[in-house]
Amino acid sequence: MALKRGIGVSAGVVVADALVLDTAETRVPRRTVAAEQIPHELDLVDRAFAAAAAEIANERQELSKRAGNELADIFGFHERWLNDQKPRKEIAQQVESRRYSAAYAISVFMRKYRRRFQEMASPFLQERGKDVLDIERRLLHHVGGEARQELSALESPVIVVAHDLTPSQVVMLEKTKKVLGFATDAGGSTSHTAILAAGLGLPAVVGLEDITAHVSSGDTLVVDGMHGVVVINPDASQRAEYDTQAAHLLEVKATLGELRGLPAQTRDGHTIELLGNIEFPTEVAVCLEQGATGIGLFRTEFLFLQDGPPPDEEAQYQVYKSAIEAVGGHPLVIRTMDLGGDKCHTGGAWEPEKNPFLGLRSIRYSLQHLTMFRAQLRAIARASLLGDVRVMFPLISRIMELRQAKFVLNLVKEELEESGYEFTRPLPVGVMVETPAAAICARELARETDFLSIGTNDLIQYTLAVDRGNERVAQLYTPADPSIIRLIRGVVRDGGRCNAKVSICGEMAGDPLFTILLLGLGLRTLSMAAGHIPVVKNIIRCITMTDAEKVKRRVLSFETEREVLNYLRVETRKVWGDL
Ligand code: PEP
Ligand code: MG
Repeated sequence: MALKRGIGVSAGVVVADALVLDTAETRVPRRTVAAEQIPHELDLVDRAFAAAAAEIANERQELSKRAGNELADIFGFHERWLNDQKPRKEIAQQVESRRYSAAYAISVFMRKYRRRFQEMASPFLQERGKDVLDIERRLLHHVGGEARQELSALESPVIVVAHDLTPSQVVMLEKTKKVLGFATDAGGSTSHTAILAAGLGLPAVVGLEDITAHVSSGDTLVVDGMHGVVVINPDASQRAEYDTQAAHLLEVKATLGELRGLPAQTRDGHTIELLGNIEFPTEVAVCLEQGATGIGLFRTEFLFLQDGPPPDEEAQYQVYKSAIEAVGGHPLVIRTMDLGGDKCHTGGAWEPEKNPFLGLRSIRYSLQHLTMFRAQLRAIARASLLGDVRVMFPLISRIMELRQAKFVLNLVKEELEESGYEFTRPLPVGVMVETPAAAICARELARETDFLSIGTNDLIQYTLAVDRGNERVAQLYTPADPSIIRLIRGVVRDGGRCNAKVSICGEMAGDPLFTILLLGLGLRTLSMAAGHIPVVKNIIRCITMTDAEKVKRRVLSFETEREVLNYLRVETRKVWGDL
């Protein structure tokens, strides 16, 4: 038995045999052809582009039907690239001038093109290298240079283990219905592979570094996508524990219909607001379906991470409008762009930074790119006339940033009023508490805002000084550290004293292990990825607030993460079974 920690990107626990995929790059041997063979090779190149483009268009259409346009748009880059004449011409030129075989010319060109992305400083752009590899594989397949691993004939369920997977491979794996989840050496939480896995509900752990070296096909694997853990060949008792957990999750899923209409209310009558976290407007429907009563976090930076120039005010307005229409009168918290760190947009020049997570990130970036920021605020303010919209600023670490951001917002609203827009209802403003500085000064921030939302993903990384995306220190990254719990307690207390509503929207909010504690700490609004809502609601409905407060008091007496986790496991098991 061995346990490996990586980055959980899609909730759920699955247990099955491993299937190790060979996804290592295949080198196409250098091959030149006779002069009379050249027309044939050129024809092969043309056909490969046409076939790959048709294939992608089909898959994109199919994916859009199943999972919405935004997710399918991940393949927009592939489609545009394959329909662009320039790369095709350059490859053809290599065939003509150097007499390269079609396969070799494609592979040389694509490798060079991919290297350009891999050498970029932004992890987001580096990830695009994977999309290029995806295209290369397709082209090579169509010229007969690379065999595809056929998965359609799988007879029993498996968990796929690979060095890395391209977005197309994730879609293909999910389509087989036999692949229950996957685990990869490479990858980060913002990669397209991760976003697709989450969107398609495929439990996955990425960034495991060397999982392929430890697993052979046929080994039994547990993939716990919620906690980012993979267990290799669990012993009998562990296997039983994970089987129970997986069965529990399935049970909860099965009772979903029943749960959806029921309130998220404790046994002693306290109602908890459960909201959804989204990246794209199409996910609103999924959240509501799972029982959300609104959206507590709309991460808008993904709009800026698509190919091409950043969306202008009108394009953004249309996106926000569609989210508001989908949410149907419930609240929608729109977070302004959280760019920088590992999320760099493709348009314009991007200055590499030594410590991007401590650099020009998030609200700092917005305040230095006022044209972009103002366009976003204008779009949000205009959209706010259509529903219960609230605006939220990310990564505020000092009061002056909040004041500046509010100043820009007020300016924008005045401009809009001058052009005839009437703001008859207030546009509530909130900040994310994601740094120890913000948590410590929560009272001051609360006095000048309508709400605070605790972003534990960043709060943990900045408090414990652990990079949330670095698999080498993943075991040090935990919401159970007493420092985090005390910070949350302080924010809830200080926010409450200043009449600001306090909610939580980091991953911790959706982890059922912490539900009782969070309620005990006084949180009444939890915002999470759609998939976690039913499980969390189930727990809420099984407990009383009096018990939750007792649990909180006990947890606050602990000195170590281990004690906290062990105790919460026991308490959660009492009401809900194994976790
Ligand atoms: C957080 O930091 O907890 C959060 C919700 O923001 P993001 O995960 O988008 O950084
Ligand atoms: Mg954050």
